[in-house]
Amino acid sequence: MKAIVFDNDNGVRLQTDYPRPTPGPGQVLIAVETIGVCKTDLEILKGYMGFVGVIGHEFVGRVVDGPDEWISRRVVSEINCNCGICELCRAGLGNHCPERSVIGIAGRDGVMAELATVPLANLHRVPDCLSNDQAVFVEPLAAVLRIGQQVDLSGADVVVLGDGRLGQLSARAVKTPAASILLVGKHAHKLKLAALTGIDTMNVEEFAPDRSADIVVDATGSAEGFELALRTVRPMGTVVLKSTFAAESGMNLAPVVIDEISIVGSRCGPFGLAIRALEEGAVEVTDLISDRFDLSHGVEALRAAADGRNIKILIDVEPGASP
Ligand SMILES: [Zn+2]
Ligand SMILES: [Zn+2]
Repeated sequence: MKAIVFDNDNGVRLQTDYPRPTPGPGQVLIAVETIGVCKTDLEILKGYMGFVGVIGHEFVGRVVDGPDEWISRRVVSEINCNCGICELCRAGLGNHCPERSVIGIAGRDGVMAELATVPLANLHRVPDCLSNDQAVFVEPLAAVLRIGQQVDLSGADVVVLGDGRLGQLSARAVKTPAASILLVGKHAHKLKLAALTGIDTMNVEEFAPDRSADIVVDATGSAEGFELALRTVRPMGTVVLKSTFAAESGMNLAPVVIDEISIVGSRCGPFGLAIRALEEGAVEVTDLISDRFDLSHGVEALRAAADGRNIKILIDVEPGASP
């Protein structure tokens, strides 16, 4: 089958004879239909997590092998595959299972392929009213809805730093519960998209942080972004870190202590809430799609996703490809 594969020796490439996966116990086989390219995919191409194999974790597809009641169902899948028996799993914290593998990120093949296997327990049905282009946003939308589970957004003045994929989704997800929301970014056309959904925006050049925000979401993925967050949040406020970045050594953390700032790391979130938000039309997502490629041009899709002018890049598996 066709798959977009990465390893350190050969880099990223399209492989047309990648072995078809076979679902093990508790797994289902999925014919992938649409894939979203994520910053994490781009980080993997730079060696993040030492990952080798089929990349990709944001997708929508159809079950082609599994329990009868799931066959032909359109589904999305949570990405953490946990052991189910350790202390954290039994406490309902499977996303933190020390034995976990993560689809297309750690220890198991991902979804930039015609076929993929995922645990049955990770599946969520996609309601008929959602298009594939909406459903492919469930995973990243869930990740930003996680913020509302970790910090109390109601009545808060929130600033989101970064106008890329995660920043855009974060601003849209926190808009309703928050008292005010300001998205700060570098790209006029990206800020305009957010403004069209009713979000206040500002170019970082004009932004004068005054330590007044209750909550700052850092979706810049850079050390400078984190430093700006510390200058934006009020004393005893909260900074939510939404993207992983290799912190520069020598970064000054004194403000965290002096201003008693809470730092909250935030990763994967509730799929059920994300599906409901899309169903209710509470969050607009399809306007974030900048371009799309077919799977045979998946490498070009990755290149487009790395281009700062683009927001979301989608990959379509050519119909009639797989089973
Ligand atoms: Zn992702
Ligand atoms: Zn476990």
